[in-house]
Amino acid sequence: MARKIGSRYTAHQILGRGSAGTVWLGDGPEGAVAIKLLREDLAADQELVGRFVQERAALLGLDHPRVVNVRDLVVDGNDLALVMDLVRGTDLRTRLERERRLAPEAAVAIAADVADGLAVAHKAGVVHRDVKPENVLLDMQGPLGPGGAHPALLTDFGIARLVDSPRLARATKVIGTPDYLAPEIIEGLPPRASVDVYALATVLYELLAGFTPFGGGHPGAVLRRHVTESVAPLPGIPDELWQLLLQCLAKAPASRLRAPELAARLREILPGLAGHPPLDIDEPDSEEAAREAEESASGPYAPGTAGTGSGSYEESLYPPVAPGGSRPRGAVPLVHGSAAPDSNRETHTSMRVPGPDELAGGAHGTARAPRAAGERRAGSARHREAVRRRRVKLGLAAAAVVAAAGLGGWFASQHGDSEDAKPGVQHSDATTPRPAP
Ligand code: ADP
Repeated sequence: MARKIGSRYTAHQILGRGSAGTVWLGDGPEGAVAIKLLREDLAADQELVGRFVQERAALLGLDHPRVVNVRDLVVDGNDLALVMDLVRGTDLRTRLERERRLAPEAAVAIAADVADGLAVAHKAGVVHRDVKPENVLLDMQGPLGPGGAHPALLTDFGIARLVDSPRLARATKVIGTPDYLAPEIIEGLPPRASVDVYALATVLYELLAGFTPFGGGHPGAVLRRHVTESVAPLPGIPDELWQLLLQCLAKAPASRLRAPELAARLREILPGLAGHPPLDIDEPDSEEAAREAEESASGPYAPGTAGTGSGSYEESLYPPVAPGGSRPRGAVPLVHGSAAPDSNRETHTSMRVPGPDELAGGAHGTARAPRAAGERRAGSARHREAVRRRRVKLGLAAAAVVAAAGLGGWFASQHGDSEDAKPGVQHSDATTPRPAP
């Protein structure tokens, strides 16, 4: 079913649906294009339309092979559409869901492409703010790179920024994905380029591990981990790659590499990763995530308490914790405040500010640690079950000893041969076995 978009474009079929709208395969004067039609409620918002028009130059100005270029913006009646380069392939989320984990070489090659795209954007003063596997497209028609990775392109530039104003966020439930949120955003600081580097490092960790470093369970738990926990090491990860990840997942934005440095470092370590198989690790227990979710529901990151006056979450919009505490990747509405840029993190956060030791990746615990495949981990469901069984056995043995002693005492008193029976000491009914009448 064809649909006219403005006077120059026609949308033919749906390629995918995202949080901000639907992406169509279409065509225009220069051939095939992808057309992102923004959701009706967004398109109907006059303020948002105004901002799109205002930001037109910035959106159209990003022209780079690692960025999905926006070719045109169409405001036509009820339609608000972005016309983009068509990428023939799939998004990184789809690939990750299919393969679960990528070999380090392919993962690093993809991350390096995305870092290149970010470097160009940051140079132009644009912060992406929503780097996640859904926003990385793999061009299946492009040449195969290291590790058999297709070229990766970053898409949805500036959309989060345009759509995510406080008023709109409240009115339209526009969202951030908690798994990739840099700690300073959670604390209510304005997002700078370093939030994209943090998010990309999270994506790279996820490509290697099959799960994000701080994800899992209740969104409140995810937020808390971003701010207070250090990232759990991945068994078997090459050390150079691990050090790079650690640096870019630093709590302090200034400690992270910048996008061009990250791209260069990733490409430097690529040759050493050739032939390295995907990491063989188990995901941390979802049961543990559920337990943490319960804890965080009453903790400092509980709905409505995060960042008073800076960032807050709306309780009613929380995605429910999936049965069994599995990982809802649901988006969470994030309402940004208008805190002025400030390099002193302690002046304007209502949350606990991580101390220098944490910023260096130390205290306040480590996020749920993955294990080498098959390894039993302290704190895991299986480990806790084993401990519980041991306790039950010990308890039964102790109860048997106590019962035997009690029975022996009763038997002795009945037969009047207890040497040390004290006069005046009464046994309660509850503890003194009586003979059946
Ligand atoms: P989200 O809002 O979740 O980031 P998008 O709305 O950007 O997702 O895109 C939804 C889906 O549409 C993507 O997962 C992808 O499959 C497809 N898509 C988006 N942009 C393009 C494009 N330029 N070319 C081809 N397919 C695209």
